[in-house]
Amino acid sequence: MNFVTGLRCRECARAYPAEALHVCDYCFGPLEVVYDYEALSASLSRESIASGPETIWRYRPMLPVSDLAPIDLGAGFTPLVRADRLAAELGLGELWIKNDTANPTGSFKDRVVSVALTKARELGFKVAACASTGNLANSVAAHAARAGMVSVVFIPHDLERAKVVTTAVYGGHLVAVEGTYDDVNRLCAELASEHPSWAFVNVNIRTYYAEGSKTLAFEVAEQLGWQAPDHVVVPVASGSQLTKLAKGFRELHQVGLLDDEPHVRVSGAQASGCAPVATAFAEGADAIRPVRPDTIAKSLAIGNPADGWYALNEVRSSGGAFEVATDEEIVEAIRLLARTEGIFTETAGGVTIAVLAKLASAGVIRSDERVVAYVTGHGLKTVEALTSLGPSATIAPTLDAFAAAVDLGDSSNESGRP
Ligand SMILES: *Cc1c(COP(=O)(O)O)cnc(C)c1O
Ligand SMILES: [Zn+2]
Repeated sequence: MNFVTGLRCRECARAYPAEALHVCDYCFGPLEVVYDYEALSASLSRESIASGPETIWRYRPMLPVSDLAPIDLGAGFTPLVRADRLAAELGLGELWIKNDTANPTGSFKDRVVSVALTKARELGFKVAACASTGNLANSVAAHAARAGMVSVVFIPHDLERAKVVTTAVYGGHLVAVEGTYDDVNRLCAELASEHPSWAFVNVNIRTYYAEGSKTLAFEVAEQLGWQAPDHVVVPVASGSQLTKLAKGFRELHQVGLLDDEPHVRVSGAQASGCAPVATAFAEGADAIRPVRPDTIAKSLAIGNPADGWYALNEVRSSGGAFEVATDEEIVEAIRLLARTEGIFTETAGGVTIAVLAKLASAGVIRSDERVVAYVTGHGLKTVEALTSLGPSATIAPTLDAFAAAVDLGDSSNESGRP
């Protein structure tokens, strides 16, 4: 039993049953899951959630599945850490990092995949497939292995080495396609109509997949003592994560878990080498012009974002902003976050932190705001971005060599011993 009443077109509001559908037959608009919010209100409480598992599945009533034993590697309930040292460097006040590098396969994609594959199994699918920029590949392969499903995962041929290995290890089919993600995605749309018995998590199961991102809002609100933040910074590839995260805060109020109606300013982060949504924002345009990506933030390299317009709209209507980061700024931001907070993120997180810094210095993000930056993937996935880093010294194994090579300044003072 669940609280889903059906699906609805986001454009023309036509109703559909809760099946493996993702676009409206009439207007080709994307479909969205509809819940019975009154029934949810009556059955949910902060206490009932607190007694649930420390994963996304503590919010199961607000997710579109019935299964009491979901396909679960432990996604979600990742740390929300107060980042005072980073805040001080950026001139901000109350800053938090949602550390989604701590997910089972090292990225936020575990949230959406755990939901999508659980739903797919419920609908009778036995094959799990996806078009991926890298992190989705890792997560689909891992969750399919966990569930005993066959996986068929499609990636662009030029992905980071770590993302290829950490997908292949789970033993499914991994197909590298000579082209960009947008080529991969187009191929998968064709394959999806040819193989209706395959669950493409981000094609024919996308309506359910997207719902998993709401848990990024649910957790932050719960971890802040059931309060919404004032401003969030979210990376944008297809725009699905940002759109559903914003929906998540609103739903918490609808079901009575947040007392006050939240007014969360939502800001979006893109790489300057793939910034179709940020460009539309800067130009005040309504149409999003596709681009050919060229950036080290490969997990965000979607040139023709399916939910780009919705993300743009969410940012505009919430009073947020879009900003972009160059490859150099991405690397600098990865090092800044690591140096100040001890969190190592992949290039997508570098985009988020670089954009956080830029919006802070421009005064768009204010020091009187409670800010949450979403760091969505682990740094070990993209070590290529940091090849210039190495030991601070390489020495012979002697005291003299050490003394000659390393000067710790004041911090090496013997009197400073505990
Ligand atoms: C996929 C991904 C995103 C953004 O996802 P969309 O929902 O497509 O916008 C952000 N960060 C990381 C690390 C990702 O892998
Ligand atoms: Zn429609």
